[in-house]
Amino acid sequence: MSVQPCPRRVAMISVHTSPLERPGTGDAGGLNVYVVETAKHLARAGVEVEVFTRRTTAAQPETVELMPGVLVRHVDAGPFEGLGKDDLPGQLCAFTVGVQRIGAAQPEGYFDLVHSHYWLSGQVAWLAADRWQVPLVHSMHTMARVKNAQLAEGDRPEPPGREIGEEQVVRAATWLVANTDREADELIDLYDADPAKVRVIPPGVDLETFTPGDRAAAREAVGLPADAEVLLFVGRIQPLKAPDVLVRAAAELLRHDPSRRERLVVAVLGGPSGSGLDHPEALADLVDELDLADVVRLVPPVERAELAQWYRAADLLAVPSYNESFGLVAVEAQACGTPVVAAAVGGLPTAVGDGGALVEGHDPHDWAHALGDLLNDPERRTTLAEQAVAHAASYGWERTTERLLELYRAACHGDSASGADKQAHLTGIPKAVIP
Ligand code: UDP
Repeated sequence: MSVQPCPRRVAMISVHTSPLERPGTGDAGGLNVYVVETAKHLARAGVEVEVFTRRTTAAQPETVELMPGVLVRHVDAGPFEGLGKDDLPGQLCAFTVGVQRIGAAQPEGYFDLVHSHYWLSGQVAWLAADRWQVPLVHSMHTMARVKNAQLAEGDRPEPPGREIGEEQVVRAATWLVANTDREADELIDLYDADPAKVRVIPPGVDLETFTPGDRAAAREAVGLPADAEVLLFVGRIQPLKAPDVLVRAAAELLRHDPSRRERLVVAVLGGPSGSGLDHPEALADLVDELDLADVVRLVPPVERAELAQWYRAADLLAVPSYNESFGLVAVEAQACGTPVVAAAVGGLPTAVGDGGALVEGHDPHDWAHALGDLLNDPERRTTLAEQAVAHAASYGWERTTERLLELYRAACHGDSASGADKQAHLTGIPKAVIP
């Protein structure tokens, strides 16, 4: 008799963005990092992962091995190029057909579980889980109702079709993974999720790449003056992330203290995404309008090792977003020893912990005040930096993946919100006993 552990193989669905893309521009961001990191750690723990994503260029092969145990499968659904995220709901049927065909070509019981990321993937995973008779674990990442309640000026509300699609996925999922208690409450309050099937599993940070380091060396590496005051923004350039709030706050700082112009550098790192501020020129125009061309540097997205140098080079990371379900950049900066000033929204209070300060609202005066206070107080920054490193240390991807795996095992064992005695079976569950 041999006992098969479960899950042996997980199908991850990430329709709209590929784990092979570089995060920081377009639709590639924290979700991509999440999928890559959890897939890698699952593979290291002996669980194979296959990630299904939409093919976006003719050159992409059917499969790519990300590392041993992690396979990316490209699925044809709609034209390769020029299809925006808004057009993807119309391609879900094609994507689902592609996933089903791949599933049908595998031996019986090939996938033990489906984990979908974002509602579009949840729609595909709903059918896959039903067809393969396996549990469906779903992560929302962002929610239309949450976003619509905190829209940035000029940002487009998410359409009702997305809200309906999200509701369906919430109902269909065996388990829902929330990044924070706050997200769990939003799932329950705004989407009527059954509280018993919501699990809070915080995401992580790559604690090998994002480490504290010498600030002077980091500044040299990224080309910043050693004696500058450096405020950093990292993220996709879109209204939701509000880099304009930081730029306006910088103008306020200089209005109060014009001598600061000699030393202030605001680095805005990331590529265009979404609507409104979708063209970097819009932000560049604002910089010109506020006469900040000598202060603000617009930096295109960078690889993660270089990003760590930017975090180390900064005095403070600013995260002025209108909403974040978590905000990975906040924890990455802290892991590099850089305190964070963040908007008190969504998951950011959790992500920041005691490694920074929170600002209510998006008034540039308030932001200038919060940033100026900390720039003027090096002792406080040193204390926050120490707390930041300690706070970030509790967010390794190993921990996230261990907790995901516990949930997967429970799900494999047949535990669901309607099943009893879930906790008793959280580890080492045999899927089947094969004679
Ligand atoms: N990122 C990156 N290079 C860049 C800009 C961003 O690798 O040039 C990564 C960043 O390290 C983080 C992710 O993109 O891991 C953004 O995640 P976050 O949760 O902050 O925002 P999201 O993209 O999910 O809205």
